Amino acid sequence: YSHIPVILLTAKTNIQSKIEGMELGADAYIEKPFSVEYLHACASNLIQNREKLRQALEQARAADRAKSYFLATVSHELRTPLNAVIGFSELLQGADVEPQEQQEYLGSINFAGNALLNLINDVLDLSRLEADQVELDCRPVDVKRLVREIVGVFKQKAVEKNLSLQMTYTNLPPTLYLDDLRIKQILLNLTGNALKFTHDGGVTVSAVFRLAEEAGQGTLIFSITDTGIGILPEKISQIFEPFVQDSGVRGHRIYEGSGLGLAISKRLVEKMGGKLSAESTPGKGSTFTVRLENVKYQ
Ligand code: ADP
Repeated sequence: YSHIPVILLTAKTNIQSKIEGMELGADAYIEKPFSVEYLHACASNLIQNREKLRQALEQARAADRAKSYFLATVSHELRTPLNAVIGFSELLQGADVEPQEQQEYLGSINFAGNALLNLINDVLDLSRLEADQVELDCRPVDVKRLVREIVGVFKQKAVEKNLSLQMTYTNLPPTLYLDDLRIKQILLNLTGNALKFTHDGGVTVSAVFRLAEEAGQGTLIFSITDTGIGILPEKISQIFEPFVQDSGVRGHRIYEGSGLGLAISKRLVEKMGGKLSAESTPGKGSTFTVRLENVKYQ
């Protein structure tokens, strides 16, 4: 009956009896003369507290399960490229490896090594964010230039996939106070995804600034819109969780990536006091929006 609160009702008023009662496991002790109202208040308080405790315990257990799942997934994800490194280096040690094969194996080792490094960096980044160990470093940033840089990074990729890649700006002041490296990280992730999951049409990166009532501040909104494969409505809330990818089937991957990008971006945007959201129509495309309030400008 551990979930049922026990209230001792008694005519004994000496302190020793009270102590004994509590030691036997009572949650409360009520002496004569009894009041039904008081008993009722006492009982409902105890029940409410128990419910709060139960919920806290359930949350702690869920967090624990999530951590175990995370660790298991990280280990699994580390194993695949590590096996490639070991397998191909063993092949290289073989007696008669043609020079061309050597180059191929070295290429595979290099690819797997880079994948490992990216995964470990992402895991570290996410852990630091979850432990609230990430400090933002805000400085004056020319957002137009920043967006141009992001688009520059992906120009070649867009040309290769025969996609358009455009940028638009509205009302941007010359400088905004932001952590430029972290903003870049977020925009690289979102723009990279947009291009990755689009096969027809293109991607637009836009930045809009709206003045707030308070002088010297405003709302900065980045949106990354694509005409890609889109995301199913039931999946859209899950994609910000670590390791959720494509159709949700790990190991059958059509697209490269660690599955941590959006989890990191979301936490970073939240660290900045903002919101990252997604809207999508399967088969038509998606829009990811970063909304940052109270951004200072000059
Ligand atoms: P990764 O891209 O490394 O798989 P992310 O966390 O960046 O990891 O994205 C998680 C998943 O969300 C992707 O695997 C994909 O299924 C979905 N996704 C993200 N962006 C888009 C997009 N623009 N269009 C369609 N699906 C997307």
